[in-house]
Amino acid sequence: REDLYGRSNDMGFSGALSFLRRKYTRDLTGVDVAVTGIPFDSATSNRPGARFGPRGIRAASTEVASLDGFPFNFNPFDHLSVVDYGDVDYTPGKPEDGLSEIEKHAGIILAAGKTLISVGGDHFVTLPLLRAHHKHHGKMALVHFDAHTDTYPNDHEIDHGCMFYHAPKEGLIDPAHSIQIGIRTEYKKDSHEFQVIDAAEANDLPAKEIIKSIQSRVGDMPVYLTFDIDCLDPAYAPGTGTPVVGGMSTDKVLKILRGVKDLNIIGFDLVEVAPPYDHADVTSLAGASIVLEYLYILGHQKQG
Ligand code: MN
Ligand code: MN
Repeated sequence: REDLYGRSNDMGFSGALSFLRRKYTRDLTGVDVAVTGIPFDSATSNRPGARFGPRGIRAASTEVASLDGFPFNFNPFDHLSVVDYGDVDYTPGKPEDGLSEIEKHAGIILAAGKTLISVGGDHFVTLPLLRAHHKHHGKMALVHFDAHTDTYPNDHEIDHGCMFYHAPKEGLIDPAHSIQIGIRTEYKKDSHEFQVIDAAEANDLPAKEIIKSIQSRVGDMPVYLTFDIDCLDPAYAPGTGTPVVGGMSTDKVLKILRGVKDLNIIGFDLVEVAPPYDHADVTSLAGASIVLEYLYILGHQKQG
């Protein structure tokens, strides 16, 4: 691939597997958005396998690389130059090093003034990503899609259930302007600082009501959006480490993302896709499509 703009239409089933057929490069000249993979799953508490997430999502992304997405009907790559920056490199036997490597890797892209989209990996990768984004954007509002709050107090382990216990303590995010959507596992309502729209409520509410809640919660703050694929019901995302029944549909979350297109979303990650438990690429395709939705948001903003 030569040009950073436009599309190159390989046959869907052929060719090299970069994300959405973008140029594979670490040259950030003229780049608006860098997509990077983080094949890290050492913080997994149940089933490992999210280290294969970036590879699975790249493969599935070829399915949505060539046509204008519904309902946007424009080519985001006419407005945005997007590259596949490749994966974070770390020593698998040293997960502590992995965290500093992720932060350093993200820092290079952010210091160049580029928008970063990260594809996990287990959800723990969001903590070093928040640290890297905080250096450039200050304290952020978090919009968090997940079956789990990931606020469990754990000071001693690398554990993908505790990032949002640490992030407010480190001053990276403001829970008073943050919201979690799709939760359906243990949390104590009265001692929980984040607003929660649990999965049962989210399934009953129309998307536009959820959009309004997100907008009024985050206000004008810079927003970091983190999407744990297990927010989706296992029917829509079986390929993940800790599936929980009673989740949201892909349709609902895409509508919500479309609805928040005017928020100042400065960072985005999609985590916990574990292809070894997937069927027919359902989960990887959902992951690729959710990331693409964010690219449409950016394309819409750049279009003006
Ligand atoms: Mn999570
Ligand atoms: Mn989760």
